Amino acid sequence: MSKEDMSVEDLLSCNHFNTDEKNPHIIVNPDSCTGCKVKPCLTCCPAQLYKQDSSSGIVHFDHLGCLECGTCRLVCQEMGNGGITQWKYPLHSFGVQYRCG
Ligand code: SF4
Ligand code: SF4
Repeated sequence: MSKEDMSVEDLLSCNHFNTDEKNPHIIVNPDSCTGCKVKPCLTCCPAQLYKQDSSSGIVHFDHLGCLECGTCRLVCQEMGNGGITQWKYPLHSFGVQYRCG
């Protein structure tokens, strides 16, 4: 099967992750997220790493599986609530390895 015939999910499943468990490259302060009305990170992250607890409303983030696209950083800056307190690329040898482009 050629890459053109593969679904986005199939393409993403080819990726390999070497996650730096001790040093998350993205850090979110959920306290700052409470004042964020739109919470665009919940829908814009292609890896769906931002989740909102349905009862408490607290935004949770896990850097495992991050595609390093930078979208969350841009939309969070636009919101101006400072929820993302750190966004940087993983240290050398850590992070995502794209296998299918
Ligand atoms: S960098 Fe991209 S994949 Fe990673 S958490 Fe942000 S939006 Fe999701
Ligand atoms: S966009 Fe930023 S401030 Fe708003 S919910 Fe997401 S991480 Fe929090």
